[in-house]
Amino acid sequence: MSKENRKCSFCGREDKSVDMLISGINAHICNRCVDQAQLIVAEEQKQKKKDEIPSFKLLKPAELKSHLDNYVIGQDDAKKVLSVAVYNHYKRIARSVEDKSKAGQQTDDDVEIEKSNIVLVGETGTGKTLMARTIAKMLKVPFCIADATVLTEAGYVGEDVESILSRLLQVADYDLAAAERGIVFIDEVDKIARKSDNPSITRDVSGEGVQQALLKILEGATVSVPPQGGRKHPEQKMVQINTQNILFICGGAFDGIEKRISSRLKTNAIGYNVGNEQQRIDRDNILQYIAPQDLKSFGLIPELVGRMPVLSYLNPLDKDALRKILTEPKNALIKQYFKLFELDGIKLKVDAEVYDFIVEKAIEFKLGARGLRSICEFILLDAMYDAPSGTDQTEVHITLEYAQQQLKINNPGRLKVA
Ligand code: ADP
Repeated sequence: MSKENRKCSFCGREDKSVDMLISGINAHICNRCVDQAQLIVAEEQKQKKKDEIPSFKLLKPAELKSHLDNYVIGQDDAKKVLSVAVYNHYKRIARSVEDKSKAGQQTDDDVEIEKSNIVLVGETGTGKTLMARTIAKMLKVPFCIADATVLTEAGYVGEDVESILSRLLQVADYDLAAAERGIVFIDEVDKIARKSDNPSITRDVSGEGVQQALLKILEGATVSVPPQGGRKHPEQKMVQINTQNILFICGGAFDGIEKRISSRLKTNAIGYNVGNEQQRIDRDNILQYIAPQDLKSFGLIPELVGRMPVLSYLNPLDKDALRKILTEPKNALIKQYFKLFELDGIKLKVDAEVYDFIVEKAIEFKLGARGLRSICEFILLDAMYDAPSGTDQTEVHITLEYAQQQLKINNPGRLKVA
């Protein structure tokens, strides 16, 4: 075929009516058809990905825990409980996917594994969110944090419970299948406890009402969700999300719950188990004995407690733990500052007693691990201000004296001894 007579073998256009014609062995293709074909391939691949059975690398509980160890200091009990619960959860999903792929064939048993949402009880700043976030990152599943205190019963001022799912969908980049196996951390779940035992005339729209609304999404239901969240876009098309395989991790400080645990333990002591077992109770760490009935007596409705069958606790952080948090985890706070200075070509040198000073202050201000950061910011503020514009400065040395002085200057009463 002469060059003039060449035609696209797909659309039939002649060489002269297209920008480019690519020749193969026995055929030609024009640039328009190349573009078209590319779109078809992309669309097909997208569909394939959607239909694909999600394949997880199911990490064993011990692997999950040792990964958590890299980022979270202490909290061994909670790490272990969380690792097992997460492993079981994703094993359950993997199994249900397997069953789906065997649809039509007979399965050998009909044991249905129920999902196990988790409650973590512990003071603020002890690592509850960090743990949930670290696990989600490791599993590469969408993760979002919701604050229970801003939720209200549908129809009242505040956010509907469904907004949590909108957020999950957003972080999953609107990939519905991914969102449906994500992890949601609901913070401050203790704040939606029933306000009093007496049902009052005024409706408890931010307490019990929210608990009722949460129940539905926690147990697994198909929920209509506004993809952009909120009530600002009433015209948006709702998306149906199935929460069956979404793992909910709830966290709360449950202030004062120790008293309830102690009184339960005391009541039990009157019963059968008086004797050795009671004497072994570690009075300094009552939280470790927490049980579902304590959450009920704190004001969570029994149905909700029933939907969160896995329960663990986090210890308050002592001096030792705070010192470790400051320097040891993979992205420890102090390592982040080293990096920041390094990016300006400066070596940061911090004397060992400065770490102790930061920890002491964090304890004094009763700020837990969160306080470490604010204190570091105050101490390093001037150095961070000067360093980038310094001419030939190659090292910043933080001594105890400098740290004490900087904290005094830069913290004029903002952090107070609680
Ligand atoms: P909460 O228990 O209130 O959810 P977070 O997990 O948000 O607390 O902790 C706040 C910050 O404090 C974290 O981002 C982390 O930097 C630090 N932190 C708290 N607890 C730990 C811990 N056990 N190990 C390492 N860092 C921690």
